[in-house]
Amino acid sequence: MIPGPTPVPENVLNCMSKHPIGHRSGDFQELVEKTTKQLKWLHQTNGEVLTITGSGTAAMEAGIINTLSKGDEVICGDNGKFGERWVKVSKAYGLNVKVIKADWGQPLDPNQFKKLLEEDINKNIKAVIMTHSETSTGVINDLQAINHEVKNHGKAIMIADCVTSLGACNIPMDEWGIDVIASGSQKGYMIPPGLSFVAMSKKAWDANAVSNLPKFYLDLKLYLKTVNKNSNPFTPAINLYFALEESLTMMQKEGLNNIFARHARHRNATQAGMKAMGFNLFAKEGFGSPAITAVQPEDIDAESIRKSIKNDYDILLAGGQDHLKGKIFRIGHLGFVNDRDIISVVSALESTLDKMGKLKSPVGQGIAKTISVLNNES
Ligand SMILES: *Cc1c(COP(=O)(O)O)cnc(C)c1O
Repeated sequence: MIPGPTPVPENVLNCMSKHPIGHRSGDFQELVEKTTKQLKWLHQTNGEVLTITGSGTAAMEAGIINTLSKGDEVICGDNGKFGERWVKVSKAYGLNVKVIKADWGQPLDPNQFKKLLEEDINKNIKAVIMTHSETSTGVINDLQAINHEVKNHGKAIMIADCVTSLGACNIPMDEWGIDVIASGSQKGYMIPPGLSFVAMSKKAWDANAVSNLPKFYLDLKLYLKTVNKNSNPFTPAINLYFALEESLTMMQKEGLNNIFARHARHRNATQAGMKAMGFNLFAKEGFGSPAITAVQPEDIDAESIRKSIKNDYDILLAGGQDHLKGKIFRIGHLGFVNDRDIISVVSALESTLDKMGKLKSPVGQGIAKTISVLNNES
């Protein structure tokens, strides 16, 4: 139960154990045509969604280098490990970065974006770059509110890392007017790592026309040209396309609203169980990610909890990164997750804590709350 790679359904795995087909064949073209339509459905966009062979970071880097130019002024939101990464990518390409920070566990403040954007009367700011679901802290940032400020600015584009929010909560790309959305296969898509996706608005393509940052493998013009012929510029991870088609078909059967409701319910049930066991949640109240719950135990090393639950129950939880190592553990509930998984992890945590002599509540209090949320919200 880590936030990625997430569990892969058996039928999706089985799809991959085939001989690869030629990436210039008619069969592959059919696959690209179908998955591209499905990806547009998932992103709620009529614009292009391009598939890259590479991890999620490739998609984000592609979003930046295909829309911006050397020395461009950009705002990066940074309230965790992934926000930090976008600052690093932006600096690596010589962008002029203004960073808006929030403490780890706190959400980004839309008013700080509003202020910087309103002060920019000469319209020098070319992009706002941010992480929607900050996987390292379990915080969901208010993408809609921050994007609203970007729209008011008028000139800047919004580049969003939706790696652990796409397929977990509602992101109507066209309706909100988000310009670039980056995501990766090993998260909400329920397939193994290796593919990443960039969705681009009309405004993002306009920015692309004047962008001068160096690019070759991640030059999205090549991907656009070839996707229009239902192809790909290079040899893609063909077997992952088999998996993609299967998993997106599963998602379409479930329906977007049901997928979002399931993730919200699992987040709520997990949070309720943790609180009832006497744990503090790391993310600010009301800003818990639908993909992941970060828990901050008070007087126990989070790593020892992780170790015990792995040993005794074969459940892998994520730890804290950087200064949070040993301070938090993180429960992933993204993608192919059902009620049984949530019930298992909360019960197993309760039992683990009890064995360690560290449970602050009567045995069963946590899971009782979890079950109550699961049954009342269904
Ligand atoms: C997983 C993840 C990424 C992408 O990481 P890769 O290892 O490059 O796939 C980016 N942003 C967030 C928020 C993530 O959770």
